[in-house]
Amino acid sequence: MSLLAPQAGDTHMDRIADRVPLHDGFGRRFTYLRLSLTERCNFRCSYCLPQGFVKKKGLPAELSPDEIRRAVSAFSQLGLRKVRLTGGEPTVRPDFTEIIRELSCIETVRRIAMTTNGYRLAERAAEWREAGIDAVNVSIDTLDREGFAKLTGHDRLSEVVAGVDAAIDTGYSSVKINSVLLRALEGTGWEKVLEFVAQRDVTWRFIELMRTNDNAQYHAQQSTPGEAIRERLLHSGWTPVARERDAGPAIAYSHPHYRGRIGLIAPYSPGFCDSCNRLRLSSRGRLHLCLFGKEGFDLRNYLQHEDQQSELIDRIVSAMPYKAIGHRLHEGDSGATPHLASIGG
Ligand code: SAM
Ligand code: SF4
Repeated sequence: MSLLAPQAGDTHMDRIADRVPLHDGFGRRFTYLRLSLTERCNFRCSYCLPQGFVKKKGLPAELSPDEIRRAVSAFSQLGLRKVRLTGGEPTVRPDFTEIIRELSCIETVRRIAMTTNGYRLAERAAEWREAGIDAVNVSIDTLDREGFAKLTGHDRLSEVVAGVDAAIDTGYSSVKINSVLLRALEGTGWEKVLEFVAQRDVTWRFIELMRTNDNAQYHAQQSTPGEAIRERLLHSGWTPVARERDAGPAIAYSHPHYRGRIGLIAPYSPGFCDSCNRLRLSSRGRLHLCLFGKEGFDLRNYLQHEDQQSELIDRIVSAMPYKAIGHRLHEGDSGATPHLASIGG
């Protein structure tokens, strides 16, 4: 029996995918996979990789396009509808376009999204769209050029904004901005964000800074709750937008005078994990049930041949009872996560 209600427009393949949705003991269904393609990154965001990416010795190689395709095929037989390519910076992989093409051939995957720092988006938006990416999230913590350079280690704000505009012009179905809330940026930049969303059909999402094992001190100094943003929006005529099916934990607000929307992702707010619909696969083939969980379940041995699909599916299903009801960030417990680039933020 399908646990998902059929919707108008569902195809035959969608109904196959709906038959065996992956679920946990808390009634949550997992139709969304965040796939980290690499831990490498060319930026040095101060809350993520402040020293830049540092290669550790002895780590296994990143998953190959074949391994990635086998993994996503198995998840697709378990009700997967959406994949997000993330990292590290996924676009540093030379085979990034090839990976998109491979995944776009998997029929039950309805949506392929990516999260990027945007440094190559202006020049490659059309190529990636044509290969099969539908939706893109671009990280911009501040629209102040100097502030951006200081936060990321790169004076590339104008290129990144050009990338956002290229994605809009190329016809991506969704373009969102991820913007981490930092105390250092408080009280600055609000007007620029409003101007940005007035001109563009994008969703600007403020994200509460999450504590990781490497940024504990930074988090103590820089974290700030998103509630002030919510109050500001509600007091100035913004209203919550109805949530879509498969929507993530972000709450978006719209305003009649603005083309775009402003959203808030508040992982420290109560009930944040209740609607969790996502699993993560690291760039080295470990299944993570939570961004802030333990070491994960190694799937790599099951990704080597096409004929291992049923073993792989069994392995994935057998991990599900270990999914916890929620993260324990409020208790200062970031699990085994050194930084978000390690398993895909
Ligand atoms: N490199 C890509 C990028 O920056 O968009 C993809 C990977 S990055 C880890 C994914 C998202 O996680 C980015 O929007 C980034 O700002 C966000 N992020 C990283 N560390 C974070 C933290 N400690 N708290 C909240 N968001 C974080
Ligand atoms: Fe790189 Fe993204 Fe982490 Fe910034 S947030 S250092 S761009 S992985």
